[in-house]
Amino acid sequence: MFQTEYAQRVFDALESRSSHEPEFLQAVREVLLSIEPVLTKHPEIERNAILERIIEPDRQIKFRVSWVDDAGKVQVNRGYRFEFNSAIGPYKGGLRFHSSVNASILKFLGFEQVFKNSLTGLWMGGGKGGSDFDPHGRSEAEVMRFCQAFMTELYRHIGPDTDVPAGDIGVGGREVAYLFGQYRRLTNQFNGVITGKGLAFGGSLVRTEATGYGLCYYTQEVLRLAMNDSFDGKTVAVSGSGNVAIFAAEKASQLGGKVVTMSDSSGYIHDPDGIDLNLIKEIKLNRRARIAEYIASRPSASFVEGHKVWEVKCDIALPCATQNEIDQADATMLIAAGCKIVAEGANMPTTPEAIDALRAAEVVFCPGKASNAGGVAVSGLEMAQDSARLAWTFDEVDAKLQTIMKNIVASTIAASNRYGLGNDLFLGANIAGFERVVEAMLAQGVI
Ligand code: NDP
Repeated sequence: MFQTEYAQRVFDALESRSSHEPEFLQAVREVLLSIEPVLTKHPEIERNAILERIIEPDRQIKFRVSWVDDAGKVQVNRGYRFEFNSAIGPYKGGLRFHSSVNASILKFLGFEQVFKNSLTGLWMGGGKGGSDFDPHGRSEAEVMRFCQAFMTELYRHIGPDTDVPAGDIGVGGREVAYLFGQYRRLTNQFNGVITGKGLAFGGSLVRTEATGYGLCYYTQEVLRLAMNDSFDGKTVAVSGSGNVAIFAAEKASQLGGKVVTMSDSSGYIHDPDGIDLNLIKEIKLNRRARIAEYIASRPSASFVEGHKVWEVKCDIALPCATQNEIDQADATMLIAAGCKIVAEGANMPTTPEAIDALRAAEVVFCPGKASNAGGVAVSGLEMAQDSARLAWTFDEVDAKLQTIMKNIVASTIAASNRYGLGNDLFLGANIAGFERVVEAMLAQGVI
């Protein structure tokens, strides 16, 4: 499968030890396949066992989270934090609360985060954590008690210069606030230990919108460079209806696109007139209800239960829900319908087979570790503001976000060209992210 004996050997060894972690293996395989030209050019990487070290988290923390539900029953969940790599800064990456959470999923996310954070150009290492707790259907008081119980263990492992968590699936502003409150109570410290905080207590403007907006800034830049084109007049399919999806849909619309789909785990809505985002925000953010409720207020829309949005014809596809949500059959449908660009808002939403099919059909493919890096980039800007005890304006942060996303496109294209691979966004993103971490690891010696 690999061209180099080194990558093959490292992957074989990992596969035999981690065969029970399919998502982690998938993420490692993708990176190793992409960075082989770097391995060939730089034998010092093998001499210093960089691959063997970069695929092992620095630290894996696993803990019990015991809490009491509204009925007075004791509940027990699993909590995790994978501190993957801190060669270029404190561990940084979100917390995911979802029933599907396990070590494999968090390891793949932590591993990807190392390279994504590197691409932002900021001083952030990679980490990820979470729990198999599912906030859906839980009362406010239950969510608060769970967050407090989770932080009661996590607080001893994190800190503003050590490890800085943030939100992810199931962890939005509400959960971040409860987590921060408990950290502050336990440590008697008010600092930038977690990002995505409320504006009243150390949060940054644009953080809520950052991943979705950043995804569209990145896509816009790629459309401009690759096709001399823009969002204007394009039909856009968005999956998901959480934080990333809502603000991707908002920015895509502001840039002239027509967003016609959104989804949740029950199915998708199709609104050929263009999604009414105020209605989506009311349903998903204010009422925390199911997306199917949308059609009650919009006669132009339909709800398709149990299906994915990729069966709807679009020019631009923005997968913003979860991992492996575009498989080969979905890619085939997107290609047949004339989709020109797939830009990942979620982490690893496209399976390897689907990526191969899209690339073979010359659909422009924007990998999540580059295209969705806007969220963590603004988290980095939140850390900077917290350290400086300053708050920047919306326009200041938004301008910095736009610059960072454009720089990511430029640095991935430059990396790809350095290795004679043309303007390959996919290989370039993995190479550019990898090179910076490797430089830091080589300089810092064997640790
Ligand atoms: P949210 O919890 O806010 O939203 C997730 C959305 O995806 C919901 O609509 C949810 O539907 C849907 N979803 C989740 N799991 C599934 C599933 N198995 N099948 C179908 N739909 C599903 O999460 P975010 O928007 O924050 O995150 C979305 C993706 O973006 C994730 O991959 C995350 O890792 C990635 N990401 C997030 C960043 C951020 O800043 N938040 C930064 C970079 C990447 P339902 O409500 O029914 O569960």
